[in-house]
Amino acid sequence: MTIYIDSNDELHVEYQGIALTCPHCQTLTHLTPAATPGFASLNRHRPKHIGIVFRCDACGDPVFLKFAVKSYSPQRVELAPNYLEVERARESFPLTYLPDEAEALFREALTCYSAGCWNAFGAMSRRTAQSLFRELGERGKLELFDTLQEIRALASLDDDTFSTLRAVLFGSDSDPWPHHPAMNAENAGILLEVMRDILYQTFVRKARLLQAMTFRKYVAPQVPEAHARTT
Ligand SMILES: [Zn+2]
Repeated sequence: MTIYIDSNDELHVEYQGIALTCPHCQTLTHLTPAATPGFASLNRHRPKHIGIVFRCDACGDPVFLKFAVKSYSPQRVELAPNYLEVERARESFPLTYLPDEAEALFREALTCYSAGCWNAFGAMSRRTAQSLFRELGERGKLELFDTLQEIRALASLDDDTFSTLRAVLFGSDSDPWPHHPAMNAENAGILLEVMRDILYQTFVRKARLLQAMTFRKYVAPQVPEAHARTT
């Protein structure tokens, strides 16, 4: 993808333009440039990085992206195609179904993930797991481990990924150094999906089923006595 600003201050994005998940409306959408730095001023100051404000095509809110400048020439300012999202979309999860302490910890974990702080996300995921082990007891801990094994089989996780996940969630802070694996964008992304699945299986699914059952009981039509006897 070639991306540049021409001498008329216009931003050109070749191929399909820029699309991302909007941090405001959470829609995967295209962006339209709303404010681009002026060509003359860029060529005069020659900054290494520049910021451009876009408008989300779905909700119209501003989205700010930072680009590294590849080169300056009298015709165009060429930008590197990979950009930095200043505000990233927040990861969501039905947190209210979790026990209070786990809810607070996992909320912070999601904030770390949205900020791209992968190691902080790993550490907060471990704290969430530790809180759940305390809440659910030894049997609950074993069940959570079984769920992790199930996910391993369902998602065909390779051995390296599985041992990273096991070390993050089931490792102890007193393990030999490094007691927590180093996290990066890739393994943090997998950990996020695993955390979602484990928490969903353990709390959300059960709570929603119970709610639905209670609702069914409450709204069940009353069968007339006589009719009930004949059927
Ligand atoms: Zn939007």
